[in-house]
Amino acid sequence: MPFTTHTQTIHLGAGTLAHLPAALADLGWERVWLCTSGSYTRNGLTAQLQTVLGAACVGVFDQTAPHVPEAQVSQLTALAGAARTQVVLALGGGSAIGLAKACAAGLGVPAAAIPTTYAGSEMTPVYGITRMVEGTPRKIITRQVAPRLVLYDPVLTLDLPAALTLTTGINALAHALEALYSPTRHPLSTLAALEAARLIPVALRRCLAQPTDLAARTEMLLAAHLAGAALGTVEMALHHGTCHVLGGTAGVPHGAAHCIVLPHALRFTAPVAGPLLAPAAHAWGIDPTLPPETAALHLADQVAALLTELGAPTRLSAVGVPRSVLPALAHAVHASPTVRRHPRPFHDEAEAQAWLAAMW
Ligand code: NAD
Repeated sequence: MPFTTHTQTIHLGAGTLAHLPAALADLGWERVWLCTSGSYTRNGLTAQLQTVLGAACVGVFDQTAPHVPEAQVSQLTALAGAARTQVVLALGGGSAIGLAKACAAGLGVPAAAIPTTYAGSEMTPVYGITRMVEGTPRKIITRQVAPRLVLYDPVLTLDLPAALTLTTGINALAHALEALYSPTRHPLSTLAALEAARLIPVALRRCLAQPTDLAARTEMLLAAHLAGAALGTVEMALHHGTCHVLGGTAGVPHGAAHCIVLPHALRFTAPVAGPLLAPAAHAWGIDPTLPPETAALHLADQVAALLTELGAPTRLSAVGVPRSVLPALAHAVHASPTVRRHPRPFHDEAEAQAWLAAMW
């Protein structure tokens, strides 16, 4: 069972931001380009980070758009290259981290990340770039290297809005559960995924009930880290392949796609992956004497119940997907190489369409 992990230095804990200069010095980086979003410039975090970095900060790009548009990658790569950047540091969610990864890959330098959502991109070697093809956005997924340095400071997540806390938290849960049945799962990915799956329902509820609960925010970042580490070292399958199609082709926001697809992906997978999903079901309090497939189906039901309890989007119709596009989506889902790797492949497009119709 060969598997590849990534060389990454991780700092996790309240106040970790203060470790940044020493962490950069340890890796020999003296010229850092900061990649972030306008919201952090408005709330003062960009300026705070520039102060922490001091003279090492050779430039700031704070216009990160969602889903890593190709034009923005070219723009940032040119700017950061001209500044002789040694590392591209992302501050933000999956969009800022994706942009930093793409730019770093283009320059041939490492990326680093200070994640502020639970989307987990900092732990994976994968990034998607959105390219316009005949006027339609298409997500091009590339596998390069995972960020070399990751700093998780839960203090930076205390103001993460409830909707993003919820949808990126479910994104982390989806990483963990899909890693459990991935065709290339391995002992480390399974251990990390199970611990993430155990932590998330409790920590996520606590973060939503009391957003400034530092201990809960710390547990959610730990869970996001473990879930990202699990999925980042295995191949994705039905769940993520479908979310990429929904985001790239139908414009469904990334976090919403995870919430809508997850219970359906679990139900579809239960017949072929009961024993792999049952340990997560047991961690969620599901009767350990049930047959594994039944336990996995109960887990799907509990995930659906959690989504409803927390007010997550649960239907494609609720996020503006017209029923008329289901055949085109089914075509793309059925053709997706990621979906084809799933342990239970669709027989044909009609089966994929029926599956999508159940979530419409
Ligand atoms: P995002 O990065 O698009 O961020 C959404 C918004 O939240 C932005 O406006 C951002 O500025 C704001 N925000 C982020 N953190 C905040 C905070 N702490 N407080 C206040 N506002 C904050 O959202 P995301 O869900 O983290 O990432 C989605 C993107 O990441 C998608 O493009 C998805 O495809 C990609 N992604 C990639 C991977 C991977 O492994 N490559 C994994 C997960 C997601």
